[in-house]
Amino acid sequence: MSEAGVSSMESDLARSYRAQSYWLDSIEESLEPRPPLEQELQCDVAIVGAGFTGLWTAYFLKQHAPDLDIVIVEKEIAGFGASGRNGGACSAWWDAIFRWLRNPETRTAAVHFQRRLIDTIARIGEICVSEGIDCHFSHEGLIMTAANAEEAQQFSKAAHVLAKHGFPAPDYEMLDQAATRELVAIDGACAGFFTPHNAAVQPARLARGLAKAVCANGVRLFERSPAVKLEDGRVVTDRGVVRADTVLLAAEAYVTKLAGFERQLAPIHSRMLVTAALDQSLQEALGLLPRRSFAMAGDGYGHLTADGRIAFGARGSYYFGSRISNSFGPQTRDTQSVWQLLRTYFPALRDVPMTHSWGGAMGLPRDELPFVFLDEKRRFGWAGGHGPAGVAPSCMAGETLADLVLGLDTPHVREPWVVDALPPLWELEPLRWLGITGVKTWRQWFPA
Ligand SMILES: Cc1cc2nc3c(=O)[nH]c(=O)nc-3n(C[C@H](O)[C@H](O)[C@H](O)COP(=O)(O)OP(=O)(O)OC[C@H]3O[C@@H](n4cnc5c(N)ncnc54)[C@H](O)[C@@H]3O)c2cc1C
Repeated sequence: MSEAGVSSMESDLARSYRAQSYWLDSIEESLEPRPPLEQELQCDVAIVGAGFTGLWTAYFLKQHAPDLDIVIVEKEIAGFGASGRNGGACSAWWDAIFRWLRNPETRTAAVHFQRRLIDTIARIGEICVSEGIDCHFSHEGLIMTAANAEEAQQFSKAAHVLAKHGFPAPDYEMLDQAATRELVAIDGACAGFFTPHNAAVQPARLARGLAKAVCANGVRLFERSPAVKLEDGRVVTDRGVVRADTVLLAAEAYVTKLAGFERQLAPIHSRMLVTAALDQSLQEALGLLPRRSFAMAGDGYGHLTADGRIAFGARGSYYFGSRISNSFGPQTRDTQSVWQLLRTYFPALRDVPMTHSWGGAMGLPRDELPFVFLDEKRRFGWAGGHGPAGVAPSCMAGETLADLVLGLDTPHVREPWVVDALPPLWELEPLRWLGITGVKTWRQWFPA
């Protein structure tokens, strides 16, 4: 029986989708897939992938051009990928910003981008209200904790850079140990970094709600319809074909399974778990109320869910040959290490059981920079490479890609992630595996 109590009325297939994450499991609506594409059809824009990126792109295209005929083909169901599995931090804290701020050529655009990213958090909340999407949106900020002087120093540098470019406290603020512990009772925290620009969300509810909203606006969404080949003006699926003026790719980590795209991104996994619901007194003692996100500089991120559990995740691995793994059962070494990490941060959880564990893959470009791309001539576009922090940026990427497709001259199309060439390819194996695991180990020992 699922958390939502509806699985007994569902097919095995829908139940298998629930098993992908606690977020999907706890959704009340049915997860039976929409009908697949079984014919050849024509439309204005074809989108491959119904995660946040594909769905937001469709959403904004329809906002600007309500008559546009849009088809989305999705390999499984909307929200099956990272969008239905992530940690639920919808955040304006993003590593890419620092790269763009450091570069004099992208600095001014980066400042505009950061302002837009901050505004995007509230905007997602507003769109959820207007579209009737109840994703447990809790706009209470993000507290990040440092466990030692080096980590505190990194936060302090980040606060300095952000302040210098127009984002001082209260946008981004360094906190001492006492102030940090008032926000979250993480064992060993010696300092913290707080931003109010973060909302905790139930990500699968957001993805499924967006899918409903775009379908209500006339978008045709075909589920269980994997694209097997992309050509100019054509998406070939396992049982159908979509002919389109413009073809857009929004398949993130899974793109590595599409012919011709194998080395464009590397699938990096992250692992998640949720605990059983905590007593109100324990929620309060751990500083988890109001429901804000927390993260540790070392590793680990999470928040209190609307039903009083801790959802907690930690970085995972890259698997040889860009394999995408789904083996994150409660007894696996991967999950046990996350479980151990959570109880190190919150020793008071020792008697609270874990109820669900899962994992997912995100897409990492070779240059570690997210991108929004449209080839005007071929009418082929792609937004992705969001890495570990794409919940809010994927909304912006969707809007930017929509502007490019429609030829709108907005400030978005001049943002630093709008590129005219795709990121460099990843190395062939075994170099790819050696490089990624080597860099990961290096960063664990010598954080940047
Ligand atoms: C475990 C985990 C935790 C994370 N935590 C956070 C967090 O707390 N905060 C944050 O900001 N970000 C987080 N992220 C990253 C964030 O989830 C992603 O950046 C974001 O969801 C990317 O959305 P997307 O639509 O680009 O990709 P996805 O959600 O992966 O969507 C891609 C879709 O394409 C479909 N697809 C794939 N191949 C095909 C094909 N051939 N044909 C048709 N459809 C196809 C897939 O089934 C999938 O539905 C996390 C990611 C993971 C995996």
